[in-house]
Amino acid sequence: MSTLQRLTERLGDILDEGSVITDPVRLRTYDCDGLTYHRATPGVVVLPESAEQIAAVVRLCDEYGVPFVARGSGTGLSGGALPRTDGVLIVTSRMRRILEIDIPNRRAVVEPGVTNLAISEAVRERGYYYAPDPSSQQICSIGGNVAENSGGAHCLKYGFTVNHVVGIELVTPQGEIVELSDRDPGYDLLGAFIGSEGTLGIATKITVRLSRTPEAVTTLLAAFTGIEGGGRAVSAIIGAGIVPAAIEMMDALAIEAAEAAVHCGYPEGAGAVLVVELDGPHAEVDHQFAAVERICRETGAFEIRVAASAEERAAIWKGRKSAFAAVGRISPAYIVQDGVVPRTALPEVLAAIDRLQEEFGIRVANVFHAGDGNLHPLVLFDDTVPGQGEHAEAASGRILDLCIEHGGSITGEHGVGVDKSRYMPRMFSEEDLDTMQLVRCAFDPKGLSNPGKVFPTPRLCGEVPGVRKGVHPLVESGMAEQF
Ligand SMILES: Cc1cc2nc3c(=O)[nH]c(=O)nc-3n(C[C@H](O)[C@H](O)[C@H](O)COP(=O)(O)OP(=O)(O)OC[C@H]3O[C@@H](n4cnc5c(N)ncnc54)[C@H](O)[C@@H]3O)c2cc1C
Repeated sequence: MSTLQRLTERLGDILDEGSVITDPVRLRTYDCDGLTYHRATPGVVVLPESAEQIAAVVRLCDEYGVPFVARGSGTGLSGGALPRTDGVLIVTSRMRRILEIDIPNRRAVVEPGVTNLAISEAVRERGYYYAPDPSSQQICSIGGNVAENSGGAHCLKYGFTVNHVVGIELVTPQGEIVELSDRDPGYDLLGAFIGSEGTLGIATKITVRLSRTPEAVTTLLAAFTGIEGGGRAVSAIIGAGIVPAAIEMMDALAIEAAEAAVHCGYPEGAGAVLVVELDGPHAEVDHQFAAVERICRETGAFEIRVAASAEERAAIWKGRKSAFAAVGRISPAYIVQDGVVPRTALPEVLAAIDRLQEEFGIRVANVFHAGDGNLHPLVLFDDTVPGQGEHAEAASGRILDLCIEHGGSITGEHGVGVDKSRYMPRMFSEEDLDTMQLVRCAFDPKGLSNPGKVFPTPRLCGEVPGVRKGVHPLVESGMAEQF
């Protein structure tokens, strides 16, 4: 009998029969996350309902030396929740209680399986919301958001998950339940845990900060003949001391795809469009709007549209939000890349990406969170043409090199997971990686918590990044937007 089988026999002491999955067909439901390219059937899946149950399962893993992986909703885009065939997958989907709402202190305490949007929905009537807004917010879990330090279009102004989580209860890789808080003196262990992609333990309770719903929101669309004009507008807006709630940009190819998919009716002849959203008190929004409109005109916008109603606002966002899925209309296969550059490097990096198209004979549609330099280049190719997949993959890797060369990063919000672990040595020296491992080892000396993720191992060196064909299933089902 294998070690995992012996461990599985003891799971019945902790969980009822319905909370342990060993049936091979049901196990396959969990064989990948949102990046379906990487797959592995888990050895066993557990569906705990409390921190105590998670702790007891993790203690068993520690005793038997069996690896474990946490999973929230499985929407991750870097293979972070990819299970281990020789390990336990701990799924938090039965831990969906909102435990406390404390409006005077602007806090909510939730279980890790609660979806991002459910928090905002629980406090909306009282004039509050939870600010980080990944496009998958309808379905992704707050535990997954913490592990990935997730962002969204409005994180430019409000900050990422790390700026909105003030406390975490977690199960350590030894199976102890501990609490971390932003009030703790000494090292910022809360900050270290957020974004650790499940490698330092499992979050079992999360205290989030609640924000006031803004009094006013204004959205405008500015059309430019080329991406340079849009880039200049972004720099000038931020340079003027204005921090919009969101600034999103699309290039000509992305606009073409969006028009083909949702007929968004963006201005004809646009080589780039900028979507700018301002929010806050009425007086501030009005004042900033006048400045943004002037800057867009001065930097070459040939048409500006302003949403006068919620419907018009949705119409402006429609093209932008559809862009990822829409490229399926103009290309049989594509790779969604996620990298970051300093805002000021955007024009140079975009020009270099343009040159890569010629060099590799592929097309790249650029859609990005322009305000914080988070690029999402969509590398398009035809997988029926021999060699194109390899070219797309090489171009995709070169885009990450460009991000690193310009002082940016190999990921903006989707995490490293299994997919990008092989790129870590391009960004960090061996000494850097060893230092990070020391942090990991301090939490998890046996290396049982989500092993094989974030850090490269020889086994992963030959693996290629995930390829997408058509619309992501979550987008297709209306459960998530990708933009
Ligand atoms: C259509 C679409 C749109 C998306 N848009 C965005 C976006 O705008 N911004 C963005 O940032 N991301 C986006 N994502 C990526 C994804 O939704 C986020 O990374 C999200 O935070 C993952 O949450 P999840 O619950 O699905 O986590 P999972 O995929 O289940 O897991 C992700 C990682 O978190 C770890 N983990 C899960 N739960 C816990 C826990 N309780 N404790 C410790 N570790 C845990 C897992 O081990 C894994 O490493 C998108 C994904 C899709 C499919």
